[in-house]
Amino acid sequence: LFCAAECGKRGKSVLIVEHNDSPGKKILISGGGKCNFTNINASHTNYISQNPSFCKSPLSRFTPQDFIKLLESRRIEYFEKKDGQLFCSKGSKQILNLLLEERANNNVEILYNTEIENVEYDGDYKLAFSGGESRCKSLIIASGGLSIPKIGAGPFGFEIARKFGLNIIAPRPGLTPLLYNQRDAVVFSGLSGISVNVETRIKKIRFRENLLFTHTGLSGPAVLQISSYREETAPVIIDFLPGTDFQKAITERRNEKILLKTFLSSFLPARFAEVIAESFFNNKFLNNMSNKDINRLVEFVKNYNFIPSSSAGFEKAEVTVGGVDTKELSSKTMEAVKQPGLYFIGEVVDVTGQLGGYNFQWAWASAFAAGQFA
Ligand SMILES: Cc1cc2nc3c(=O)[nH]c(=O)nc-3n(C[C@H](O)[C@H](O)[C@H](O)COP(=O)(O)OP(=O)(O)OC[C@H]3O[C@@H](n4cnc5c(N)ncnc54)[C@H](O)[C@@H]3O)c2cc1C
Repeated sequence: LFCAAECGKRGKSVLIVEHNDSPGKKILISGGGKCNFTNINASHTNYISQNPSFCKSPLSRFTPQDFIKLLESRRIEYFEKKDGQLFCSKGSKQILNLLLEERANNNVEILYNTEIENVEYDGDYKLAFSGGESRCKSLIIASGGLSIPKIGAGPFGFEIARKFGLNIIAPRPGLTPLLYNQRDAVVFSGLSGISVNVETRIKKIRFRENLLFTHTGLSGPAVLQISSYREETAPVIIDFLPGTDFQKAITERRNEKILLKTFLSSFLPARFAEVIAESFFNNKFLNNMSNKDINRLVEFVKNYNFIPSSSAGFEKAEVTVGGVDTKELSSKTMEAVKQPGLYFIGEVVDVTGQLGGYNFQWAWASAFAAGQFA
């Protein structure tokens, strides 16, 4: 929608082909219904890509401030939740309405309930879709990633890329809950609903945020964030007490006759403290714990080695990591280097934002870039 309006502003005749019965379904459900539409601190360091520098140029030519100006010109109210994350005060619908108005003001036509059946290239692109055909000089693929198939996500963009010989970085779910393995399910599923401030780590990547226990796995921002960086079988290290020298704290009191669960509950939620103490240490008194027990406890609390059975998959993922290889695209125009007139923007490209408004900022910025050239 945003890219189409930009092309329309340049006097181009633009047609959007949408297979859903209505536009912007992801916008409507985003940010818990308030759409975290940008992050004022967005920089290339907030994105995952085989080429982390690729997004620099589009992000610098359409910045969070540019999107904010657009909102302010329509008097759309917004607020900062935390760390530069901007949300709509009156709900996501306002962002969608803004885009639909931009589209209408710039003479962009839109077809709903329309499935593209075939695309051929003979110098122009020839599209065959349910109920018609169209010819165009520029074909812009903005079909998103694979996450949340039930609202229309699918592999269309990747299929077009492959058809024209473009490489795809294997897509995988990102910003997704991680499911318990059998052992963790036994002890953790009963903690469903409990939230703890933790640090999650994979190699040098770390996030200090909340973790949420659910019936089936770990969720919450700390886990969603790290899930995007996880290769298939890699463990996630969890520090349940970031910023606390737990080794020192327990050493100071280890000769006291105090139940482990009582000691732990001064640091962690009581039910979690109880589960650790009872399931892993028979709820001993501190003065009865061996050095081995103490070391194991410190490892558990500070370096928990979480090995998920899998992620919750594309059904629950907020984004798709991977996508059309940026090596195939110009970062100035988003056009395919070896296929004139074919553009890829937004989530279908191998540029994936962290949680916090970065994915929409990438969608706007890449759309703006293509919108100046297509
Ligand atoms: C639950 C949830 C919450 C999110 N919250 C946030 C947030 O608060 N902030 C943030 O920055 N990001 C958020 N995201 C991510 C963000 O929504 C996406 O990164 C962003 O929408 C990508 O934009 P896009 O235009 O590339 O793709 P999409 O928004 O997915 O749009 C693609 C469009 O193409 C259509 N389409 C797909 N295939 C076809 C086809 N074959 N034929 C015709 N049309 C097709 C789809 O129906 C859809 O309308 C969230 C995602 C989810 C799932």
